[in-house]
Amino acid sequence: MERPLTRNIHPNRPPLTAKEYEMAGGYMAVKQALLKMTPSEVVELIKESNLKGRGGAGFNTGMKWSFVPMGETAPTTKYIVANADEMEPGTFKDRLLLEGNPHQLIEGMIVAAYAIQATQGYVFLRFAYKEAAIRITKAIIEAYAEGYLGDHILGTGFSLHLHLHTGVGRYMCGEETALLNALEGKRATPRAKPPFPQVSGLFGKPTIVNNVETLCNIPHIINNGADWFKSLSYSEDGGTKLYGVSGNVKTPGCWELPMGVSMRELIEEHAGGMKDGYKFRGVLPGGASTDFLIEQHLDIKMDFKSVSMAGSRLGTGTMIVLDDKTCPVGFVHNLEQFFARESCGWCTPCREGLPWVEKILWSIEQGKGASNDIELLFEHARLLGPGNTFCALAPGAVEPLQSALKYFREDFEQHIHQRKCPYD
Ligand code: NAD
Repeated sequence: MERPLTRNIHPNRPPLTAKEYEMAGGYMAVKQALLKMTPSEVVELIKESNLKGRGGAGFNTGMKWSFVPMGETAPTTKYIVANADEMEPGTFKDRLLLEGNPHQLIEGMIVAAYAIQATQGYVFLRFAYKEAAIRITKAIIEAYAEGYLGDHILGTGFSLHLHLHTGVGRYMCGEETALLNALEGKRATPRAKPPFPQVSGLFGKPTIVNNVETLCNIPHIINNGADWFKSLSYSEDGGTKLYGVSGNVKTPGCWELPMGVSMRELIEEHAGGMKDGYKFRGVLPGGASTDFLIEQHLDIKMDFKSVSMAGSRLGTGTMIVLDDKTCPVGFVHNLEQFFARESCGWCTPCREGLPWVEKILWSIEQGKGASNDIELLFEHARLLGPGNTFCALAPGAVEPLQSALKYFREDFEQHIHQRKCPYD
């Protein structure tokens, strides 16, 4: 089984230096793209590979790049941004790539920048990823020294300058337009879309914001082709995927596997199954802002389409497992507390609704729930759903809530009727 993204990552060794990365075949894709391909050929190849965004939304990467204005009438300043603000609860996949092989990300960014003719790039990094910041800084310095960054890369007319920007620890900055506002030194609130950043992004210029894992796939597609990339996958989505499992499983972790591996294989084989004394009750398949799935879904493929057809989303592909000894009301309350705190306050439903949801869940968990609280939670989930807020934060936040009400309703009712948490 091929593992292109992680084959040069070894947990107990520092990441490859630029020279070591080159010896392992690194920066070949930069040479191939800059010396042998036109920008539009690069975009077409990525489109053909069917690479879908690994940040959670699954938008076709090549298609996204193709929206950037090109040619003589296009703005001369354009930007490439790596979204490394990984803050989705339960999600730690990009951290592995950032700490484990920063040159792979830099190489992906150079090729992406070439494809859209961007001359400035930013890695927008999560505040808490201190070790990644050190390693990326070192790798950027090395890449400049080796001539892969800077002016006239490999003697061509193409130049790229790359900067590391660390956030201040706000979940909101992972939303691409809030991220761009933060980079501009403004309050991190989302912008109206359209215009999409591809047309008007950082400082009003065309900008591509791609997730770290998405960008890390680029060099491998350039080196090996679209058909090779598609052949890695068990499903119509191409490539491999970094999957993760956390919760009361025997061996929580993160693994690179063919896109479309089954949920059962991930939990039972890679995560070693449930810890002794715990039973599987449900799972949030792609970080916290996805709907619960339950035992009947264990055999679905973990790809974008299959998880949506089961009623949830692949999201970041990093699952959080709920067991039979953990209170689902307390579990969801914990998540809603996070989302309510992280709301940027820009739009009223999210700013007012999420704290309200959090308070209702807290009172239910404390045994102080009222008989109409469940209906009230359903109503909030509807009001905070897609189309009613400025960005995806609140609709994502109510996904675990609405699905917990669907699958674990009796737990909510027991709390209200018994006036205490049955799990205490
Ligand atoms: P989105 O579907 O609105 O957009 C995804 C990407 O596609 C964006 O880059 C957007 O510009 C582009 N796009 C979408 N429609 C377009 C169109 N019509 N024309 C041009 N471009 C278009 O999703 P989003 O709000 O960017 O992200 C939501 C996702 O983020 C959720 O799926 C969630 O799982 C995930 N998420 C991830 C993290 C993390 O830490 N990785 C944190 C929070 C949320």
